Amino acid sequence: MRGRPKLNDSRDNQYRVRLNDEENGKLSYVSEATGKPKSEIFRYALIDYYNKVRLNEVNSANSEDVWEIDGISLKRVVNCPHCNTPLRVDLKDGCNITTNDGRMGPEILYEFDFEDTCDYCGGHFLIAGYASEYPVGALNHEDIVVFPAQERGGGL
Ligand SMILES: [Zn+2]
Repeated sequence: MRGRPKLNDSRDNQYRVRLNDEENGKLSYVSEATGKPKSEIFRYALIDYYNKVRLNEVNSANSEDVWEIDGISLKRVVNCPHCNTPLRVDLKDGCNITTNDGRMGPEILYEFDFEDTCDYCGGHFLIAGYASEYPVGALNHEDIVVFPAQERGGGL
């Protein structure tokens, strides 16, 4: 077989990315839900992150003319721990916000720990965890746990 001429945008850089089970589950879920290959999902995430990093960099270099960058959304879907129905929650409601100075502006930490009630089964549950935003506009990390309210204080 004769070699094809290389295209300018040929993808000949390879990375191995290690994922834990939770991350792998999310990747499979998004791939199936959207019908997009897993590799494409990494590329989309990269474009989004790259754009936010560039905006923050140029903002830092132009302190006279700073563009306001929208903060991350903390609207999420969690499953009720009683009936497993997907529920929408806005974690920004009542969360504790702290900031630390980073190399590219502030790192914003959102911490939440509140009780909510399922609209479907009426069961009470607790949502706890945190999300970190860095640079501004980009999700850095998040950890969200949901558990039935009566388990609180039960050795957790
Ligand atoms: Zn429920």
